[in-house]
Amino acid sequence: MNTAELEHFQHLIHQRLSELEAQSAAGQDAQSVVELDQQAVGRLSRMDALQNQAMAKAQQTRRDTEVHRLRTALTRMDEDEFGYCEDCGEPIAHGRLELDLAATKCVSCASG
Ligand SMILES: [Zn+2]
Repeated sequence: MNTAELEHFQHLIHQRLSELEAQSAAGQDAQSVVELDQQAVGRLSRMDALQNQAMAKAQQTRRDTEVHRLRTALTRMDEDEFGYCEDCGEPIAHGRLELDLAATKCVSCASG
């Protein structure tokens, strides 16, 4: 992978990380609202609120996982390993990296 390609993916990773950060900030608001309103809202809407809270927590977990994977990808970039399969060492197809910036395996190793 050449420098321009690396910079392209690095840019995409940083962009995605700031998106996730913004979403986390918004999600944390959604999680705390429930606690504040717990006494005031009725039984049904409280169940809705708890359901929303559970969903917000699940989304947060997914975001945390993605942030971790993207940070790992940046570390692999520093070590010149980004874009290479961690199993067989072959280059990972660019189309695959566009879809999953944090992919660490080529298609055949990931499916095998
Ligand atoms: Zn491979």
